[in-house]
Amino acid sequence: MAAFCKGRSRFKRVLLQQTFIRNLTGTFDYDVAVIGGGSGGLACSKEAAQFGKKVVVLDYVEPSPKGTKWGLGGTCVNVGCIPKKLMHQSALLGTAVKDAGKYGWNIPTPVSHDWHTMAEAVQNHVRSLNWGHRVQLQDKKVKYLNLKGSLLDEHTIRGVNKAGKETVLTAENIVIATGMRPKLPADVPGAEEHGISSDDLFWLKESPGKTLVVGASYVALECAGFLTGIGLDTSVMARSIALRGFDQQMAGLVTDHMESYGTRFSWQCVPRRVEKLASGALQVTWEDSGSRTEHSDTFDTVLWAVGRAAETRKLNLEKVGVVLEKESGNIIVADNEASSVPNIYAIGDIGEGRPELTPVAIKAGKLLARRLAGASTELMNYDKIPTTVFTPLEYGCVGLSEEEAERRYGKDRIEVYHAFYKPLEFTVAERDASQCYIKAVCLRDGDQPILGLHFTGPNAGEVTQGFALGLQCGATYRHLLDTVGIHPTCAEEVVKLNITKRSGLDATVTGC
Ligand SMILES: Cc1cc2nc3c(=O)[nH]c(=O)nc-3n(C[C@H](O)[C@H](O)[C@H](O)COP(=O)(O)OP(=O)(O)OC[C@H]3O[C@@H](n4cnc5c(N)ncnc54)[C@H](O)[C@@H]3O)c2cc1C
Repeated sequence: MAAFCKGRSRFKRVLLQQTFIRNLTGTFDYDVAVIGGGSGGLACSKEAAQFGKKVVVLDYVEPSPKGTKWGLGGTCVNVGCIPKKLMHQSALLGTAVKDAGKYGWNIPTPVSHDWHTMAEAVQNHVRSLNWGHRVQLQDKKVKYLNLKGSLLDEHTIRGVNKAGKETVLTAENIVIATGMRPKLPADVPGAEEHGISSDDLFWLKESPGKTLVVGASYVALECAGFLTGIGLDTSVMARSIALRGFDQQMAGLVTDHMESYGTRFSWQCVPRRVEKLASGALQVTWEDSGSRTEHSDTFDTVLWAVGRAAETRKLNLEKVGVVLEKESGNIIVADNEASSVPNIYAIGDIGEGRPELTPVAIKAGKLLARRLAGASTELMNYDKIPTTVFTPLEYGCVGLSEEEAERRYGKDRIEVYHAFYKPLEFTVAERDASQCYIKAVCLRDGDQPILGLHFTGPNAGEVTQGFALGLQCGATYRHLLDTVGIHPTCAEEVVKLNITKRSGLDATVTGC
């Protein structure tokens, strides 16, 4: 206790000295200090340094409750987009192998998948990205500190390393880019003890085996999708709807396809407890909230994908006057990413109401850096952000869902053009295309501005990215009609849309 008090008083002394020197000279150790070296933080720090600012970035990974940890680069690189897309690709290859026979390949059966090989290759790639990020910071003269940061005052950061050693530094501007972490349910006995989250899944050395994925967010469905695709017995348990916030007709197509692909779904079910049996298997007991009956089954792995939360409370933000959204704990931000304290900014997932996507965090971070350097006044445009859900049948979208368009403009002012189409590559492979669907949600007025575009099918991300440019430029249905397709592609079906939902006509595409 005496040592603790001594440490604290030494720390207070250092802080007072820092404040005194800063007040006296008006200078700071850094022009910009960024807490969080993920998508947003790295982009912001490198950009600010490019504009001649003296920049430091603090990044520290708190191990998951299961003890999984990783390197520099944040969620996307280590436990998000990158390992997820690579494992999704592994699953797609399994489907391609099945198709290959129909296309003339002699593939000895049965084919099998080796988790260890896939995971090692993915993890090695991620490690190479971690290294690449460190090199880039060095090249761009950004000081990188592997410290856990929190605020002491509006210009002072306290960093603590893994051995508990403290460093205090000051900065004119502070950017918080600490992202989010998976939530684990506190009210389900055994959930944390026996379950894992997406923070662990990508770093497992051995196959998760028979897996229960709890949740129906995009993270839940993507993970369940690739686990099914690599041949694992996979179930999804969902309390309510899938892909909340996305167009619900499209969400239905995605989960219908997953069911036909082999993923089992239990809807309106709530896990009650997880117990480890003597055999090592995990027994999950859940309640079907419709029939109010209890059920149980055993699994090798239980993956919780029930949402993500900002860990802002650990940053001491409220003490320095940064206002947080009460429920989410996210930082309330203005259009210029400033928090309620003018020199403290927040970018990426941690900003309240911001889309939780890597390119959003990167772009917002770069634009903020340019503004801080006085090189630009441009603000981030959060409108019409495209995204893709990498489920076995991919779903790409940009703009408004049909529900949101109706809510904003009224059903009568909306025209929806839609089509069920068959990707050419599905024909020879005799794959079912029932869920391959496109819809353009337009205003009925004038040239019919496109409010939202939705696409399920192969390479949805690639397709949607191109059309996102169109929507950003104010594309109308008239522009779609004026665009010549690229034949034979799935994307050309977008520019051929001609059946309205209102007409009630069959929207199945026939012929070329
Ligand atoms: C499974 C999964 C799949 C995803 N797939 C996609 C996708 O396909 N496409 C897409 O666009 N987005 C995807 N995302 C979302 C994307 O990863 C995030 O939106 C993005 O990483 C957010 O960037 P960020 O800078 O806000 O935070 P992060 O990238 O999370 O970085 C925050 C960093 O700050 C560190 N940190 C936290 N607290 C402190 C502290 N006190 N001191 C120092 N460092 C700290 C963290 O350890 C982390 O390194 C996915 C997310 C998940 C979980």
